[in-house]
Amino acid sequence: MRLELTMTEALQEYLTAVSPPEPEALRPLREETGFLGAHLMQVPPQEARFLATLVRAIGARRTLEVGVFTGYSLLATALALPPDGEVVALDISEEWTSLAMAHCRRAGVADRIDLRLGDARDTLAALVGEAGAVGSFDFAFIDADKEGYPEYFDQALTLLRPRGVIVVDNVLWGGAVADPEVTDSETNAVRAFNERMRSDERVDYTLLPLADGMTIAVKR
Ligand code: SAH
Ligand code: CA
Repeated sequence: MRLELTMTEALQEYLTAVSPPEPEALRPLREETGFLGAHLMQVPPQEARFLATLVRAIGARRTLEVGVFTGYSLLATALALPPDGEVVALDISEEWTSLAMAHCRRAGVADRIDLRLGDARDTLAALVGEAGAVGSFDFAFIDADKEGYPEYFDQALTLLRPRGVIVVDNVLWGGAVADPEVTDSETNAVRAFNERMRSDERVDYTLLPLADGMTIAVKR
């Protein structure tokens, strides 16, 4: 018996076959995103399913997303919220997020999205300054530029209620983090973030090797 599974193509196909089907509203979004050069930035369906399940598990009502792109994780999360739920969604790209909003409208959940365009460093600082915002969020998903991760994590933690959950994406960065020959700024930023987490006493956390690696942190 192996300690960890090695994912093969056959096993991936089996996993997809026995997993619940992709929500109907997500398919056209994924197909449209597939035409874009940057389509690999989209979270895979299995990861979106995990996020939605987590949102359900903790009964989240108010969530934060840092890094929307064309909205796959945003829409998956919004669909998992109760009708009066809300996602505050941050991105710098008007072009990509307009596609995200079009699909949220089509899925009937656009009224759950509060989209804020701009550098997330600025929009998060502004959000933290708003009356009632601190401690009002149940869940956050961090998936924007990797250099910003420590700052996004700190701000998200401030916005979260105790026992709120933060998920940080791409913490295994295609495996590059474990290759000492790779020293570009993004890889170094992900490594530094992972190392910094180890001494963060504000949270309990675990790393999941799902998709491109995810850190799941719970605010103490
Ligand atoms: N979660 C998305 C993928 C996000 S890709 C999905 O499921 O498809 C990363 C996103 O971060 C891009 O849309 C990019 O525009 C955004 N981004 C990059 N730098 C940013 C910054 N400084 N502030 C806000 N958003 C940023
Ligand atoms: Ca990602």
